[in-house]
Amino acid sequence: HPDLAARIANKLGAHHASRVVHAVDDVSLSVNEGEVVGLVGESGCGKSTIGRIIAGIDSPSDGRILYRGEDMAKAEGARARHIALKIQMIFQDPLDSLNPRYRMGEIVREAPRYHRVAPARELEAHVDSVLERVGLDPRTKDRFPHQFSGGQRQRIGIARALAVNPELIVCDESVASLDVSIQAQIINLFMRLRRELGLSYIFISHDIGVVRHISDRVVVMYLGRVVEEAPVEELFAHANHPYTQALLREVPRLDNRHISFTPLSGEIASPLAPPPGCHFHPRCPFAMDVCKRVRPALLEIAPGHKSACHLNTEPAAAAAEA
Ligand code: SF4
Ligand code: MG
Repeated sequence: HPDLAARIANKLGAHHASRVVHAVDDVSLSVNEGEVVGLVGESGCGKSTIGRIIAGIDSPSDGRILYRGEDMAKAEGARARHIALKIQMIFQDPLDSLNPRYRMGEIVREAPRYHRVAPARELEAHVDSVLERVGLDPRTKDRFPHQFSGGQRQRIGIARALAVNPELIVCDESVASLDVSIQAQIINLFMRLRRELGLSYIFISHDIGVVRHISDRVVVMYLGRVVEEAPVEELFAHANHPYTQALLREVPRLDNRHISFTPLSGEIASPLAPPPGCHFHPRCPFAMDVCKRVRPALLEIAPGHKSACHLNTEPAAAAAEA
């Protein structure tokens, strides 16, 4: 993803001692301790890439990731390994991400043993307590991944992540492949773990209903850029960006949240060659001349609510063209 440049826009308040910060194409993304940040947008918008970079799976071509103010790339040795464990990722399809030849116990035990998360004689008790916390029976440790149901396999993925005592978990479509009733169970588990352990999450999903249900704050991406960001209820009550408005208009209510939104009109452009100016202009019903030339800045339009749309700064131009 050559367009993806991560830089820190240094907007951190001094009073925020604990944050993980990341940025894509000039826009920073921060997560407060104990916070759930929903990251939404159509496929190809870069949300998975951001998740993978934050989790340390991919590296940014440019930019930094700060963990509690510390540049993760500059940490070395034991410190680097310690920080790396604090951010874990949970993927969409547990069967793809679990080694089929490993028994469940070994899958969960591997990282904490390697990283000496617990002293050797306490390792098995640690593994068992993690399994119990996610609702898996320690007596099933000898089974292989294919011997578990889809929901149980996702619990194994969660246990594997939890076993190294992370502080931030990046969930990339982590419930997308599960039946709706199982989805609800896994989401409830995420929320319970947050309460019990003070975990933070970046919850990447195409399912706006799920995101609304669990997020404190929502970040909306379009073609590698953040176009809008707001506390969850503010976003749903006062969506500002035309792209967000289109997304939310298509959102079913929570009671039938398994129905995903119907596609917006117009073709989504390639993230590798996005349109100039506002990336959304070819699909935007309000596009003005300036939108084709000038990138709109992400501006605060209400407390904690940011949007990147020329309509916020050029109402006169908008009226004239209307
Ligand atoms: Fe639409 Fe222009 Fe706003 Fe982009 S900047 S969303 S094209 S009105
Ligand atoms: Mg994805």
